[in-house]
Amino acid sequence: MTPADRLTSIRERIAKAARLAKRDPADITLIAVSKTRTAGEIEALIAAGQRDFGESRVQEAADKWPELLARHPDVRLHMIGRLQSNKAEEAAALFGTIHSLDRPSLLDALVLTGRTPDCMVQVNVGEEEQKGGVALADLPAFLEQVRASPLPLAGLMAIPPLGPRPGPYFALLAKLARRHGVTGLSIGMSADFETAVMLGATHVRVGTALFED
Ligand SMILES: *Cc1c(COP(=O)(O)O)cnc(C)c1O
Repeated sequence: MTPADRLTSIRERIAKAARLAKRDPADITLIAVSKTRTAGEIEALIAAGQRDFGESRVQEAADKWPELLARHPDVRLHMIGRLQSNKAEEAAALFGTIHSLDRPSLLDALVLTGRTPDCMVQVNVGEEEQKGGVALADLPAFLEQVRASPLPLAGLMAIPPLGPRPGPYFALLAKLARRHGVTGLSIGMSADFETAVMLGATHVRVGTALFED
């Protein structure tokens, strides 16, 4: 399959899942996760019409994207990986949306940059020791802190524990978003984006299924 074929197929699957859930497919943003992919692979997807891209490391994005963005100024970049506070400046300059805001020190570092990227708060829905994301118990207070800051709160994000059933974790995140009046929901990857769409995803982050047959 060509990159354009894969893009069409993923978009169709998103639209079908949305229709099953009585949702408007236009309310779902497909983020092409381009970490480890070359500029050439990215260009092929841009040529096929893709405009939202996700990266998980600031350094890799800073090496790869300035040239691509100069050629395609309408592309929107999303930071989806762990973000160190000392990379806040570089990240805020490059990314329109940060999906991995998960602690007060990072919030402070982003505010200090003077830039205002959209921010999603990452939640550690599986309460996993090694995973990023704010703990469930700390979420209400952290959301208040973000709301009191100049940064726009655009949604909640989660990476569920590895395993066969991400649905319950997606549903939990959706419930938290409703409870706290947050509209965006960044959930779903190659293996489970249809489930995520049915449970309310506004942003799905798809890498492998877009770049590999
Ligand atoms: C790599 C990555 C993805 C994409 O995963 P695929 O399984 O390749 O679709 C999505 N979200 C995050 C946070 C990632 O790091």
